[in-house]
Amino acid sequence: MSLLKILVYPDPALREPSKEVERFDSELGNFIRDLWETMLAYDGVGLAATQVGKNLRVCVISWKEHRLILVNPRITGTEGEQIGEEGCLSFPGIFEKIRRPLKVRVEAVDEAGKPFSLEADGFLARALCHEIDHLDGRLMIDHLSHLKREIVRKKLLKRSKEERKKP
Ligand SMILES: [Zn+2]
Repeated sequence: MSLLKILVYPDPALREPSKEVERFDSELGNFIRDLWETMLAYDGVGLAATQVGKNLRVCVISWKEHRLILVNPRITGTEGEQIGEEGCLSFPGIFEKIRRPLKVRVEAVDEAGKPFSLEADGFLARALCHEIDHLDGRLMIDHLSHLKREIVRKKLLKRSKEERKKP
């Protein structure tokens, strides 16, 4: 098991759309375990393969009693809307109010390739939308106004410059 490096915005790899998983082998299983451990180590609610520079449609979510491993997930239905605060391990220290569907239906397969579907609402629906967005190269700031997006971008650029100055 090893912890993976999480890419921080504006890393261009975060914009890459991910490829469907076709091989359900031990390599995939090991990657999913590393992704899971990395999410927990950084106290995240969710983590997508895109965020660790792996171009595969895989994401994990751990929230309350929910432990989700989603391979090749697709949102197949949405209902209503909600506005709530969202954060992301690729946007350290940034929390913004974002509009999402209130309910979602998701179809996916597990790490062995077995199909399943689930319905979620509230915060879990938000987390599913956020992680599945990552797999399409979409980021939470894409849901913000142009002005807010610029503010976030400048904050993170300033922070990365300060990080580089540290010995
Ligand atoms: Zn994220």
